[in-house]
Amino acid sequence: KSFEALHLKPELLKGVYAMGYNTPSKIQETALPTLIADPPQNMIAQSQSGTGKTAAFTLAMLTRVDTTKDYPQVLCLSPTYELAIQTGEVAARMAKFCPDISIRYAVRGEEISRGDKLKDHVIIGTPGKVLDWSLKFRAFDLSKIIVFVLDEADVMIAQQGHQDQCIRLQKHLSKKCQMMLFSATYEKKVMDFAEFIVPSPITIRL
Ligand code: AMP
Repeated sequence: KSFEALHLKPELLKGVYAMGYNTPSKIQETALPTLIADPPQNMIAQSQSGTGKTAAFTLAMLTRVDTTKDYPQVLCLSPTYELAIQTGEVAARMAKFCPDISIRYAVRGEEISRGDKLKDHVIIGTPGKVLDWSLKFRAFDLSKIIVFVLDEADVMIAQQGHQDQCIRLQKHLSKKCQMMLFSATYEKKVMDFAEFIVPSPITIRL
């Protein structure tokens, strides 16, 4: 097993090696071929922190970015500020050889003005801030998102209000948007939420 066998774009493969990864982890080997294949497929994956899931979904996100278009195409929701920043840092390092890809955090402390239109390709943030920027400020169009990632869904639903915020956002996505959801657990209430958010998924359980 090797990263070459996953048929990543050459610049992303260089990014992977620059991070010091030599061989794909189980989740990367299992999920990535499905996540980057065409036509795009939805996925619900059970994966603990420490299994390499962040690299798996950030590589999938970056694979789909079209840098000839200057609007947000990838949206990743994290349950906390810290997780959003951690994910963004992995994504930025993976994208080291994709200098045209622009990543923006939608988290506490980041501000935009009314009337701003975001030109970044990738938005990584927490649900409340993403709702503000998309539906309230209209700084980007949810219907143009082609990849939607919901990380740590089990943590997300444990937090007051996040579940409803995720559902509100999801309702504005295109039917064609690829959705991927990650959870460390397979509890019923998490899976009910996951199946509500992610239509017709391939399910991966490690
Ligand atoms: P995560 O599960 O995304 O929180 O990642 C757990 C840790 O594993 C992080 O410190 C990553 O840098 C590391 N990691 C992820 N994928 C690989 C890989 N293929 N080879 C070596 N380390 C990796």
